[in-house]
Amino acid sequence: MSVLRLAIPSPLRRLFDYLPPRGMGAAEVQGLSPGQRLSVPFGSRRVTGYLVEVCLESELPDSALKHAEAVLDPQALVSPALLQLCDWAARYYHHPPGEVFSAAFPRPLREGKPHQANGTPGWRLSGRGMGLPTGALGRSPRQAQALAMLQGAEAVANTEFAARAISQAILRNLHDKALVEKCTLKLPQLEPASRPGLALNAEQASAVNALLENREGFSCHLLEGVTGSGKTEIYLQLIADCLARGRQALVLIPEIGLTPQTLDRFSGRFAANIVVLHSGLGEAERYRAWEAARDGSAHIVIGTRSAVFTPLRAPGLIVVDEEHDSSYKQQDGFRYSARDVAVKRAQLEGCPVLLGSATPSLESLHNAMTGRYQLHRLRQRAGASALPVIRAIDVRRQELQAGLSPLLLSAIGDKLAAGQQVLLFLNRRGYAPTLQCHDCGWVAECRACDARLTMHRRPARLRCHHCGATQAIPRQCPKCHGDNLLTAGLGTEQTEDFLRRHFCQWPIYRVDSDSMQARHAMRELVAQVNREQPGILLGTQMLTKGHHFPAVGLVAIIDADAMLFSADFRGEERMAQLLTQVAGRAGRAEVPGQVLLQTHYPDHPALQAMLALDYSDQARAMLASRQAAGMPPAGQLLILRTDCSDSARGEKFLQTLRDLTRDRLPTGTQLIGPLPAPMQRRAGKFRSQLILLAPDRRAAQAAAGLLVAQAEAGGARRDLKWSIDIDPLDLY
Ligand code: ADP
Ligand code: ZN
Ligand code: ZN
Repeated sequence: MSVLRLAIPSPLRRLFDYLPPRGMGAAEVQGLSPGQRLSVPFGSRRVTGYLVEVCLESELPDSALKHAEAVLDPQALVSPALLQLCDWAARYYHHPPGEVFSAAFPRPLREGKPHQANGTPGWRLSGRGMGLPTGALGRSPRQAQALAMLQGAEAVANTEFAARAISQAILRNLHDKALVEKCTLKLPQLEPASRPGLALNAEQASAVNALLENREGFSCHLLEGVTGSGKTEIYLQLIADCLARGRQALVLIPEIGLTPQTLDRFSGRFAANIVVLHSGLGEAERYRAWEAARDGSAHIVIGTRSAVFTPLRAPGLIVVDEEHDSSYKQQDGFRYSARDVAVKRAQLEGCPVLLGSATPSLESLHNAMTGRYQLHRLRQRAGASALPVIRAIDVRRQELQAGLSPLLLSAIGDKLAAGQQVLLFLNRRGYAPTLQCHDCGWVAECRACDARLTMHRRPARLRCHHCGATQAIPRQCPKCHGDNLLTAGLGTEQTEDFLRRHFCQWPIYRVDSDSMQARHAMRELVAQVNREQPGILLGTQMLTKGHHFPAVGLVAIIDADAMLFSADFRGEERMAQLLTQVAGRAGRAEVPGQVLLQTHYPDHPALQAMLALDYSDQARAMLASRQAAGMPPAGQLLILRTDCSDSARGEKFLQTLRDLTRDRLPTGTQLIGPLPAPMQRRAGKFRSQLILLAPDRRAAQAAAGLLVAQAEAGGARRDLKWSIDIDPLDLY
């Protein structure tokens, strides 16, 4: 007897056993291979499962097993390496395997729709049709003509039938006689070609050579290159080599906003089939791109986080650009790090993986220091441009207008007058982060979260940036009915208003998630900014990522203090990365760059380190202090979180978990909590957490296994949700 063990999308962290579909012969069952999709009954629903293995027996009695309904794919659509990757990820992140497998398939396939190859729809002979003599079906000339066409080719496209006035109805008639069947004609394969690359400088050449020497088999490389040092040029040259060997390249980028620019640069270099995968695609587009990656017709696959699970027919290189970027970590549901999964994938596929950044994560630096990754450094900017000069402006006792000091205002004016562009960084959207009553002190707060509401002007609403709730802006104080309501603090809308008045003859571009909602907004903005000069760009985090604005001669950080006092253990790393990346937007072309940083704490050590503009030294110092504290990457972290409408129950659940596992945890591990999350109430739910710090990966994995098993043993609890986060980015 055979049992099919399947991964099924469900919140349960286990596989499910089924009997083969009724009527399926033993030989056929033995011929099934992992990764094939099956449709199976699950509870009262019918769902799509993924075959993991065919076993001889189940732990359950036969009578308790249901039959699968149907095998959906004649062969597995994804490779064994990708299946192994999913299996690894499900174990490592302690996530339900069915949900992990789902990540490797586009929605129509997850929903059990038949697989469709890319190409042109058409027909071919089948069954009886193959044996028919030429000139058959003489009594029906149209059918005979269609048949003759099919006898002369492997398959014929619908467009060709149409050109000879043969309707689909004729073909359906032939199909009813079991002579022909529908098929998809493959698109003609494009031979990829590359334009010659730039002449590399010595540092670039040594990085490229090191990777070329290791192009067969797995190796992991960290490319630490200052902004503008020519990392992308290195990717391009390695990809050219990869294509020349008939292999595919997978390039991960952090942001959807970056795809147009990356794509333009790639398509300028390669005459090749480049497909893009990101969350902004329509379903049909996404499916075609996925299929092209799978069938090998796509030579280069560029995508955001989830693209790391795209099937590839012949992977030859994986690149993770801006590898430090926190958007590679999924923050809910399946909480994986696409960067870490990419490294594992390269290992399973047997190809090199290249992680690139001007500001590498401490994790990757640690791996490079300990010899697990090969480190390649680019210390100089490529081409003519020089690294920008960076200076702090002490704003203490200065008169600020919309957050801008007189010194900064005059610097902006000078640059504009000189025909250059200015980039202002303010990491807070909306008009003001606080609305307050000047008479009694009342503050507008979210009803569902422990958070203040942000005042927005366009449209005029109070908005919660945590749960999305909105309210009308009150005219009077709801508490004392005074009408002395004032805003406190500064958001991008407010600074934008001021800039429009103060620099009215120049264009002002605001770039934040509110102003960039439209699908192609970012692409259009980048094009417009690079066409119209001079002008001022004002924006949040969104502006700092990889975009290329060659005419920017001044970058200013309006509120450097906002980042100085983060409670999180990664606060300093984040700040150093962010500031270095923002500063890196300056002086990318002929224009020499200047960076100004407004602060009330010009002597703060983190700022001082920044002013020296050596992220790499700063990072190595931070690494030493993390090591001393046993924090990642020296130690391993995981967090169990609960989400509950009752504040005490979540904590009690975690306390019980702690009590029941404490004696069995590996030595050297340390439990912290349960504690309320730093923002305890969010969207009406109370959040608590239990943190585990382990000396190494193995101990962390063992502890995670224990905690998850114990948490699951309790079964589902109404109204209490728990989750586990392996290698969390933040402690809340
Ligand atoms: P990064 O990806 O590190 O930010 P890029 O690859 O975008 O750097 O390179 C920055 C600029 O320098 C680009 O305009 C690029 O064309 C140019 N560049 C890169 N490598 C070279 C080189 N070897 N010679 C001349 N210019 C180069
Ligand atoms: Zn009041
Ligand atoms: Zn809220």
